[in-house]
Amino acid sequence: MQEIELNLDFSNTAIAFEDKSNEELKKMATLFGLMNKEWLVNIGAKLGLPAVKYNLPFSQSIVKKTIYPQFVGGRTLLECQNAIDRLKAYNILTVLDYGAEGKEVESDFNNTMNEIVRAIEFAGPNTSVPVVSTKITGLTKNIILEKLSAGKTLNSEEEYEYDSLLKRLDVICNKAKERSVSLFIDAEESWTQKAIDDLVEKMMERYNVSEPIIYTTAQLYRHDRLQYLKDIHQRSSKKGYILGVKLVRGAYLEKENKRARKNNYPSPIHKSKTATDHDYNEAVRYCVKHFEEIASCNASHNGLSNQLQAELIHKMGIQKNHKHLNFCQLYGMSDHLTFNLAKAGYNVAKYVPYGPIKDVIPYLIRRSQENTSVTGDMSREYKMILDEMERRRMS
Ligand SMILES: Cc1cc2nc3c(=O)[nH]c(=O)nc-3n(C[C@H](O)[C@H](O)[C@H](O)COP(=O)(O)OP(=O)(O)OC[C@H]3O[C@@H](n4cnc5c(N)ncnc54)[C@H](O)[C@@H]3O)c2cc1C
Repeated sequence: MQEIELNLDFSNTAIAFEDKSNEELKKMATLFGLMNKEWLVNIGAKLGLPAVKYNLPFSQSIVKKTIYPQFVGGRTLLECQNAIDRLKAYNILTVLDYGAEGKEVESDFNNTMNEIVRAIEFAGPNTSVPVVSTKITGLTKNIILEKLSAGKTLNSEEEYEYDSLLKRLDVICNKAKERSVSLFIDAEESWTQKAIDDLVEKMMERYNVSEPIIYTTAQLYRHDRLQYLKDIHQRSSKKGYILGVKLVRGAYLEKENKRARKNNYPSPIHKSKTATDHDYNEAVRYCVKHFEEIASCNASHNGLSNQLQAELIHKMGIQKNHKHLNFCQLYGMSDHLTFNLAKAGYNVAKYVPYGPIKDVIPYLIRRSQENTSVTGDMSREYKMILDEMERRRMS
């Protein structure tokens, strides 16, 4: 009954893969079939990064012909235009995501800043690209963020590095404000996150007074993040700016748990998937309830969490495409959510990463791990693709 009222059915693979030819669908089936094999992904994850880094024969061309075009828009902004236009034809917006992370030298940080400024300038007049995203670890050394997050004092050289980060971030945020382009700032590992949170809050206070330009990210697989969301909402409300927040479950689960075990401290991650799901859905409820003061983006591939937001919007009688209520999935994944949400009239976008192959490898490894079956079952994506092939009677 609810589905009919909402006019939203995520199992509709005809809408989900409307833009894909039979040939493209077959290619996707082969790729997701391979990623379904845990042993293969484990080998790829271990060898992929060094192979591309040290330019081993064929490594770049293998990645370029397989996983790269599925999950990445292109090497440059211009190369992304094709993906942007294809999405726009189905009322899907683009969040441009320059794939730099974990950089360690000054020239790379400035390069990332310049690239993000270029992306904002590119997005400004382009109504299909309302948001650009960035990672703070592409703009400064990890050690600075780690020390600050742990409450340690920086030495004078590190102080200088931190000031340079502030300047870089301010240049980016200023440009975003000037061009009315929003900026999503990703959440990363918990041991760097406190410093990131403090910086992003400072930027929101400065730039979100009249409209949501800067968005922080809350990882709901952390047991303290639902409360954190409520706390930053209280603070933004008191200080009179709009809170921008992207909700995610979190991408570093294994790394987080492993580090906590190794260093003998309690893991910041929930003990079960059920607890993560509970907090995620509570966060969705909280953001929709306070939609006038919070601009949110439900960044998830979980059908129930997307359905929940659509139902809440419907129940509260809010305009479906209210600018504070957004959905987003990663390019190359969960088209069944993105295309069906767009068809039903919600604000939905794809995160489109771009950059040279060597820079996007860590991102590609995370995507292949996410699409791997550890239980032996078929991954969600793979099953959807096979369902559509069956519907089209392809062999
Ligand atoms: C647009 C977009 C932006 C993103 N930005 C970020 C970002 O800034 N930072 C970031 O970290 N990630 C980011 N991600 C990645 C995101 O965290 C993963 O895609 C997400 O965790 C996958 O979860 P899901 O919501 O799709 O749902 P599901 O597939 O239902 O959930 C899987 C997730 O649940 C959690 N989980 C699984 N098992 C357990 C367990 N045993 N105990 C506790 N929790 C568990 C993990 O987070 C896992 O990834 C982004 C994703 C999208 C779509």
